[in-house]
Amino acid sequence: SFHKSKGQHILKNPLLVDSIVQKAGIKSTDVILEIGPGTGNLTKKLLEAGKEVIAVELDSRMVLELQRRFQGTPLSNRLKVIQGDVLKTELPRFDICVANIPYQISSPLTFKLLFHPTSFRCAVIMYQREFAMRLVAQPGDNLYCRLSVNTQLYARVSHLLKVGKNNFRPPPKVDSSVVRIEPRKPQPQVNKKEWDGFLRVCFIRKNKTLGAIFRQKSVVLMLEKNFKTLQAVLASLNGVTGEAAVMDVGDQSMGMEDDDNEMEDDDEDMEMDEGQGGGGEFKEKVMNVLKEGGFEEKRSSKLSQQEFLYLLSLFNKSGIHFS
Ligand code: SAM
Repeated sequence: SFHKSKGQHILKNPLLVDSIVQKAGIKSTDVILEIGPGTGNLTKKLLEAGKEVIAVELDSRMVLELQRRFQGTPLSNRLKVIQGDVLKTELPRFDICVANIPYQISSPLTFKLLFHPTSFRCAVIMYQREFAMRLVAQPGDNLYCRLSVNTQLYARVSHLLKVGKNNFRPPPKVDSSVVRIEPRKPQPQVNKKEWDGFLRVCFIRKNKTLGAIFRQKSVVLMLEKNFKTLQAVLASLNGVTGEAAVMDVGDQSMGMEDDDNEMEDDDEDMEMDEGQGGGGEFKEKVMNVLKEGGFEEKRSSKLSQQEFLYLLSLFNKSGIHFS
């Protein structure tokens, strides 16, 4: 029997398993990380293709079944199983990650991989179709969102394979897609928290103009508060200068959770529900940055990653920070 809560949907189509392994481009020298091996249908092909498979599986029954399946075969000494929640497990070094994951961990797992301290070649992962389309979406696409911008800053992402629900047992409610994620090398030189905080504001409403978003009282107040905190810290450091001090201020939780809250976005012409007053002088400062870069009338739904990076650099240059 399968555990719905653990997202247990076993791949039952051997041709599909072959095709995933083939598209992953595994080398015989590769150490492969598999997440959620389940009964081992994918694991077996991975063991045949690579040098070693390290599989992280939450369910102890699955771990037993997996060990039983390979016991006494030549494959067993190249398989290492770690029992536990992949989100709470310190990941080993690996060359490539291949996984048919439980969809509820899609977002945290993706960022865990992207921020993995040792570099790897790529991750080939099965996602729920819509999540996959959001990962690969480009500016102007319907599904382009904070997740797209955020992921694509750290990695090149491409759609590999559409997978219908009937390839699984039991079939999930939604269709799936296999995506390839290749970490950019070198990794971009941004402050992760600053970048994340910035995108959260830009995507409060992805189809609103940035001018309308950054005029909101709550946004202005938040930025003003960060600004004052930073000034106070800099003043107290008294003599310690420069970016190093700036970058360490106000680190808050990363919160890379799913960003569903900005998907419904058809209230284009509504007035902002918040007062446009407040902020005063500081609001001017914020608006001037937008004007300087020509961003006042632009909308996040159409902005490229380079434009976001440029706007953030303009804010930072004016001492305005998002974390
Ligand atoms: N890889 C197998 C296949 O393709 O047939 C099974 C895939 S099934 C969609 C997901 C697997 O991930 C299940 O075996 C489940 O027990 C396991 N799992 C669920 N949550 C997990 C977690 N947080 N960490 C590690 N494994 C998890």
